[in-house]
Amino acid sequence: MYYKQYGNTSMKVSAVGMGTMRYDEEDIRANRLEKCAEVVLYAHEKGINYFDTAPLYCDDKSEIVTGMALSQLPRDSYYVASKVNLSTLNNDTSRDAFRRRLEESLTRLKVDYLDFYHLWCVLNLDMFEAQCDALYGFFEEAKSEGLIRNIVFSSHMQGDDLSTAVATDRFKGMLIGYNALNYRFRQSGIEAAHARGMGVVVMNPLGGGLIPRNPQMFQYLTEGTDLTVAQAALRFVASHQEITVALAGCTKKEHVDDACRAVENLQEKPARQIVAEYENRGVALNDLCTGCGYCKKCPKGIDIPKYMDSYNEKILGNSAKARLENHWRVPVAAAGDCIGCKTCERLCTQHLPIVERLREIAAMAE
Ligand code: SF4
Ligand code: SF4
Repeated sequence: MYYKQYGNTSMKVSAVGMGTMRYDEEDIRANRLEKCAEVVLYAHEKGINYFDTAPLYCDDKSEIVTGMALSQLPRDSYYVASKVNLSTLNNDTSRDAFRRRLEESLTRLKVDYLDFYHLWCVLNLDMFEAQCDALYGFFEEAKSEGLIRNIVFSSHMQGDDLSTAVATDRFKGMLIGYNALNYRFRQSGIEAAHARGMGVVVMNPLGGGLIPRNPQMFQYLTEGTDLTVAQAALRFVASHQEITVALAGCTKKEHVDDACRAVENLQEKPARQIVAEYENRGVALNDLCTGCGYCKKCPKGIDIPKYMDSYNEKILGNSAKARLENHWRVPVAAAGDCIGCKTCERLCTQHLPIVERLREIAAMAE
């Protein structure tokens, strides 16, 4: 296993960590929790020492399964992270609500302290500020009592907003989505975090499964290696100097093996160099929406990134309609609400023909 230092702490964490939101669904439903826990133990045996969990994952059983496994291991042989935000507190901003949530995580995980506690799922700067105002003091209090080692946040903001959050100097690290599809828009954020001595953990390294589902399109990631596309996509993320841990969602032991294989003999490089190398190979992902969210100023309230993400599937030979209906659960016909003002196209970082694509999508509803 390849290990990296977590920001300016003395923690040595594995370059791949285990994301625990993908325990086997059937086992979770049937309450075969010990079977799920075996994957955690296997990951630990293979050298993975960073485990990311949260309330609500896997029918709210992820913390329980993870604790079932970790409690069998020496406490100083792993790092565990969990999460909280206002929504998990049912918008109750009281200290008691925060403490109940934290204590429940500690109890389920069977630990006296969390190594990392995330201010969870911050979507934009307004939300970041509001949640900091409401909860940060409680985080600090819990830290001073030794219940939390590091206060961190998780976010889907794009690069410049991430840099603003980083500049508050209130967090030891952050968890963000970063992969071969969206790296251009988060790169400045990870560089800013790294420069400030923060740890950077990455979720969604496979682009929501889009990368391995389209192996031909992403074959370029494997060039010069004998890795699969999924392994190479994980390696792409882990090889960034600025990224500390790439999280792999592991359902089976084979997924753990894949993750370990992805970081064998890892060579770290600065993000700028990696991006230049891939772009010099003539990789053209210019037609794809990257999910950066810059276009979200629609006067008709159309959630454009979701529609454009679904159009990605069409470009990649899959069904845009199925993506909208089954994954995003938004009405296909609502694409027809577009009045063609082109505000979004002026903002689109990929210069996509959004209006035309929405028209095509609306026609799919018929
Ligand atoms: S062109 Fe259509 S989708 Fe874009 S902002 Fe205007 S109404 Fe919204
Ligand atoms: S449509 Fe353009 S601006 Fe909107 S999320 Fe996609 S790439 Fe970003």
